[in-house]
Amino acid sequence: MNRTTELIQAARKAMTNAHAPYSRFAVGAAVRLTDGTIVTGCNFENASYGLSLCAEAVALGSVNALGRLRDVEAIAVAGGPVDANGGVSGTGIVTPCGRCRQILNEAEQMAGRPLAIHCAAAEGDAMAEHRVAELLPFAFGPADLNISAGKN
Ligand code: ZN
Repeated sequence: MNRTTELIQAARKAMTNAHAPYSRFAVGAAVRLTDGTIVTGCNFENASYGLSLCAEAVALGSVNALGRLRDVEAIAVAGGPVDANGGVSGTGIVTPCGRCRQILNEAEQMAGRPLAIHCAAAEGDAMAEHRVAELLPFAFGPADLNISAGKN
């Protein structure tokens, strides 16, 4: 299994733990660090809908809690609709929402390297690789506040 497939599989595994009773759309994310460590997250929805946390935010928040933002090199995102039996299926590729694109930009600035964003579906082989600059052109970031990348 290559490193990208491994990362997508980790995202899919995390996806199965999603707390998504409101959207019924489960998402998992997996972040690979430079030493090969994989940190995962899944969506954590809330009865007060606007407080819901996305998988990418949960995963990158955990990376931050580990003090490892500088070591991020890639992230995989996978997801799909939750069926009546609680399973997750679907072959449509999932991409990060707008808020998560901003969070990914922050992670990329702290890492100081272009991050690979691997987007996949809940199942199947379809996959798309993107860069943050493609997903969020003209991003607002630390430099706009005169904060140097890599300083936190
Ligand atoms: Zn999001």
